[in-house]
Amino acid sequence: MVKHIFVTGGVTSSLGKGLTASSLGRLLKARGLRVTMQKLDPYINVDPGTMNPYEHGEVFVTDDGGETDLDLGHYERFTDESLSRDSNATTGSIYQAVLAAERRGDYLGKTVQVIPHITDEIKSRITRLAGADVDVVITEVGGTVGDIEILPFVEAIRQFRLDVGRQNVFYVHVTLVPFIGPAGEQKTKPTQHSVTELRSRGIQPDAIVLRSENAVEEGLRDKISRLCDVESRAVVNAADAKNLYEIPLVLHEEGLDKIICEHFGFDEMPIDLSEWEALVERVEAATTPVRIGIIGKYVQLPDAYLSVVEALKHGGYHHGAKVEIEWIQAEEVEGLLAEDRLRDLDGLVIPGGFGERGSEGKIEAARYSRENNIPCLGLCLGLQVMTIEVARNVLGLAGANSTEFEPYGPHPVIDLMDAQRDVTDMGGTMRLGTYPAKLADDSIVAAIYGSLLVYERHRHRLEVNNDYRSRLEEAGLRCSGLSPDERLVEFVELRDHPFWVGTQAHPELKSRPNRPAPLFRGLIGAALARSEGRNPHLIDLDVPSEHR
Ligand code: GLN
Repeated sequence: MVKHIFVTGGVTSSLGKGLTASSLGRLLKARGLRVTMQKLDPYINVDPGTMNPYEHGEVFVTDDGGETDLDLGHYERFTDESLSRDSNATTGSIYQAVLAAERRGDYLGKTVQVIPHITDEIKSRITRLAGADVDVVITEVGGTVGDIEILPFVEAIRQFRLDVGRQNVFYVHVTLVPFIGPAGEQKTKPTQHSVTELRSRGIQPDAIVLRSENAVEEGLRDKISRLCDVESRAVVNAADAKNLYEIPLVLHEEGLDKIICEHFGFDEMPIDLSEWEALVERVEAATTPVRIGIIGKYVQLPDAYLSVVEALKHGGYHHGAKVEIEWIQAEEVEGLLAEDRLRDLDGLVIPGGFGERGSEGKIEAARYSRENNIPCLGLCLGLQVMTIEVARNVLGLAGANSTEFEPYGPHPVIDLMDAQRDVTDMGGTMRLGTYPAKLADDSIVAAIYGSLLVYERHRHRLEVNNDYRSRLEEAGLRCSGLSPDERLVEFVELRDHPFWVGTQAHPELKSRPNRPAPLFRGLIGAALARSEGRNPHLIDLDVPSEHR
């Protein structure tokens, strides 16, 4: 029988429920259990794919092309398992399924209601993940207990315990213990209220995770235990951690996984955390500073680039480097260049994005990094602006541009593919999910990947325009990775530059703390060399010796 852990949150959003759930996933996996994870999101959008990054942060793309919540990125990074679109369900997608069934007549004329129809659909999403190859499903319920939209989800997970049996379900509730300065005290009342709200909906938490700035005082746990009717040892504390990869170790020390495993009858299984402990040691030892600029459009909200930031950090852990990120608003690049302020950077990332705003700044940043030998990695839109830059400034095609920014320009070097031209429904219409690319022998990318065939995840509509490909190649922009049928450009690089690489994909999505995405590992290696005043060589990119 598959076991289910449900993680809910109280008091406020952004408490780190996703990190708590991910950390639990890692702890159970470290006992040899097969874990999968899921996020239920109470908002009405069918998926986050059409949401502005300012609203919801990054859209995380799964192998099968699901456009999902960024918490799935944490799940993948912590559990080292690739998830699918089934691991994220929103109120919108649940209603969409129920309404489609109603129109088909599946409900045989019955009145369609939140209970049982919506709740049944929610439960079926949970059950769908509980396949024969899984021991534990961890389901995080987004939002905060007490929200209007969360009610059907709370009701569904309450019913779920009755459906599958008490011994197969464990409820974890994450709350906040604030420190009130003037009183000089940590306060338990918000936790009490939030647990009361949860209990009023019929859910008695089995464990409470107290989030706090500093460690909570011993007396408070007992108080919360008594008032919330949760065993004292199951009231655990996750104070703010120095780095997020420490959280599994913190929760383990607090005994949370032990309590869960006792409940499920897994307590005989020994835990092996050596790999994770080694990772945390590496993170702490990564101290050589390296400065990376991210030239973006949504830089006020770093969550919009969450996986990029994590992938940069992973590259840093590999090289013992602490990545310091300079957030650079793309529209301000020209001013910064005038003041020569980008020169101090050791490397640049031009991340993905949509829309014309800031595009000229990104193109200028690409030019600057090319002319000044600054290591630069372009991701998706980043590859596109690098291509425009070479077309304009090396090939001399004045006005070269992407049709996304300028629909009728003289040189559309980046253009829509035919299949994308007449799209009106903006949901899920891009090139989404994992695609293979074959890499050119003796290219930088092949050396860094150590392979001639790679798989990365995509999310975009436009591509390099094949009418310009040979001219771009002649100008020195090597199209070093192509789709297997050679119709699409997947990677570009410059021959005479230490590291100037663009990819049409989003390799950041597959980066893991103990296995950095190769291009990020390469970028940080090149950036470190620059910070030491050396011209990066393939050896700095950590290329296996047989490929140097
Ligand atoms: N806007 C570009 C496209 O649709 C790039 C997308 C991206 O960077 N994810 O092709």
